[in-house]
Amino acid sequence: MAIILGVGLSTESAAGDIAGLDAELGRFAEAGCDIAELSLQNMFVVAGGRLNLPELRAIEAVTRRHPLRYTAHGPLGTNFMDEAHIELHRAVCRAMIEAAGALGAIRLVIHGGVWSAPLADAELARLKRLEVESLAGLADHAARHGVTLALENLPPLPSIPHTHDAFALAAQVAAVNHPAVGATLDIGHAYMMATLRQQDLGETLAAMAPHIVHIHLQDQFGRLDTVRTWGKAEKLAYGTGDIHAPPGWGDTPFDTLLPALALKRDTTMIMELAGHFMHHAADAVAETKRLAGLIPV
Ligand SMILES: [Zn+2]
Repeated sequence: MAIILGVGLSTESAAGDIAGLDAELGRFAEAGCDIAELSLQNMFVVAGGRLNLPELRAIEAVTRRHPLRYTAHGPLGTNFMDEAHIELHRAVCRAMIEAAGALGAIRLVIHGGVWSAPLADAELARLKRLEVESLAGLADHAARHGVTLALENLPPLPSIPHTHDAFALAAQVAAVNHPAVGATLDIGHAYMMATLRQQDLGETLAAMAPHIVHIHLQDQFGRLDTVRTWGKAEKLAYGTGDIHAPPGWGDTPFDTLLPALALKRDTTMIMELAGHFMHHAADAVAETKRLAGLIPV
């Protein structure tokens, strides 16, 4: 059995554009994807913390037509350290699990672990426990729906002032200690965080490795988004921020990082390509497959 269960791309079609999603999944299959990541954060599948069945059924009819396996991405706004809205975050996540399960997705990528101002140690520890309890409380529900929750390491960005680094994220998943809860490694996010914290990137990936169930591959320069630039092309020109470019466009040292990663069997991998680079999808998928082959079996 291969370590990597499959490689794919994540959907970029707009919410409500069912025909666009259908065409996009067709292009993904043609580009050589085994998997597509359904961007549930861009779909009308949940309404007010409940499943929205009319939209779910319409999307299900489309996903069934394509020879792909699926993973899913949850809302960027999910944050189990946001105590004021904790019950709403949990309800939305429950419904997202149900949507992911109905669409045949085997992973649900979860954002979170964000706080807006520096916190005293005891308060930070209390909010981290809230996140652990939230994930633990959703884990059985996820398992029943055939979904593994995959808490993602986020990048340091102006919109994400404080979040877990790789070591803290690994500790959160370890504290949940449930087979239906693992980590999503976004290699680009880890690269930026290692820059900010002056950590060795390989050591941060090694800390997450025992918990990784899903990978977001993307290329960039691990350079913080601190230069005043206008638009995506300038960010690429300066190599700043969370670029999500095809492998080879940035300087992430994949060829040394990936052979050192010891992963669980059946890890899934998505080339999380920004929509404005999608015209390079086929080459990006081919290169991602080559890189997946560097991970030791
Ligand atoms: Zn994400």
